[in-house]
Amino acid sequence: EDESGAVFYKKAPQDHISGALQLGITHSVGSHTVDRDVLLQDFEVIETIVFPKAGTTLTPHHTFDDFRFKSYAPLAFRYFRDIFNISTEDFLHSIGARSLIPIGNPGASGSCFWITHDDEFIVKTVQQKEASFLTKLLPAYFMAVHQNPKTLLPKFYGLFNINIGGHNIRVCVMNNLLPRRVKMHQKYDLKGSTFKRKASKSEREKKSPTLKDLDFVDFLPDGIKLEFEYYEALKHTIQADTRLLHSFKIMDYSLLLGIHNETVEAESRDKEEKKSIDSEARDRSKHISLNPTTLQNILAKSARPERFQIAADPWGGIPATNSSGDKLKIYLGIIDILQCYKTMKKIEHAWKAIIYDGRTVSVHRPGFYKKRFEGFLFGTVFRNLPMTESLRRLNEK
Ligand code: ATP
Ligand code: CA
Ligand code: CA
Repeated sequence: EDESGAVFYKKAPQDHISGALQLGITHSVGSHTVDRDVLLQDFEVIETIVFPKAGTTLTPHHTFDDFRFKSYAPLAFRYFRDIFNISTEDFLHSIGARSLIPIGNPGASGSCFWITHDDEFIVKTVQQKEASFLTKLLPAYFMAVHQNPKTLLPKFYGLFNINIGGHNIRVCVMNNLLPRRVKMHQKYDLKGSTFKRKASKSEREKKSPTLKDLDFVDFLPDGIKLEFEYYEALKHTIQADTRLLHSFKIMDYSLLLGIHNETVEAESRDKEEKKSIDSEARDRSKHISLNPTTLQNILAKSARPERFQIAADPWGGIPATNSSGDKLKIYLGIIDILQCYKTMKKIEHAWKAIIYDGRTVSVHRPGFYKKRFEGFLFGTVFRNLPMTESLRRLNEK
């Protein structure tokens, strides 16, 4: 940050980066018309477009510095978007129709985050080793989501690099997990570890702080109660996801959890004399999310019992309760998965090396991480309502 309050990343003003990104993405994704099945080679394609300030016959003129734009595996990423039913038109509208909105990052890594105007996508700067790891991960990732789109892993919709002012800035585009239009009464980034897992004082003073494991145990010692079916569906999904992460020796990921408290919300609304409930309700029912919602991510599309639909809201939060009996909707997903135990060294080889090279990698640590993560989530954070109670509640509805 400089004296005027402008934010810089690698010496480039943040709004120039996002502006150049929008231009690059719109141009590169929009001009991609090849339509065929994805081949393994497509994962290695890198497309480069040069954007001089004055424009060329192919690129428009612009007000940023000259920049070079690279799009990684464009065809493979288009296929990912297809799997999740995100059309190129919708994607480009989300990314390009209005300025990207910078959001502060509570993390320590110093990456920049932006969110699209419609709440759908997050753009995050990643380090070089994370970007190169993602390209190695792509084929396996592709196979996994192709087999099973029911996942809480981040949905990567694009990986790009802009070279501006002599610096490489790499970003990935992914799904936003916490719709800003739903008030999150609490927000947690959970790892299952206790070491340094308490939000800093300055973080806690923010309007919408991101709290951590020790804060969770403080505020919600009895955890979050889920009906049996949701608990099981969530557990199965997370187990499958962490199995994939483990197979790549990935560690240090988190569960991002947003809690909307309907009971508290209704009380504060009563005080405000039910201000504009109608228009809000109308807004909500109109909402059709491009990205699969939390509920869709944990429930099989084929066998969706009717009761799940009754409980569902347009934002797709999972119904839950706290120990005081407040009604909650929770929104969640796994984030920050690009740290591989091995990237702490260096990846020279393809994805095979990551999976099969057991000698140079301690397989112990990622496995320990997974176990501790699941143990914390399904022992401390989420509690299973006994089947009988959950059926009883169901009958009361
Ligand atoms: P560090 O490596 O220091 O942990 P980071 O820069 O890699 O941080 P992340 O851990 O990916 O950043 O995310 C930081 C925060 O950004 C999260 O705690 C969360 O509040 C927000 N965030 C990240 N990804 C998403 C997402 N997909 N949807 C909504 N919010 C997100
Ligand atoms: Ca993190
Ligand atoms: Ca990180």
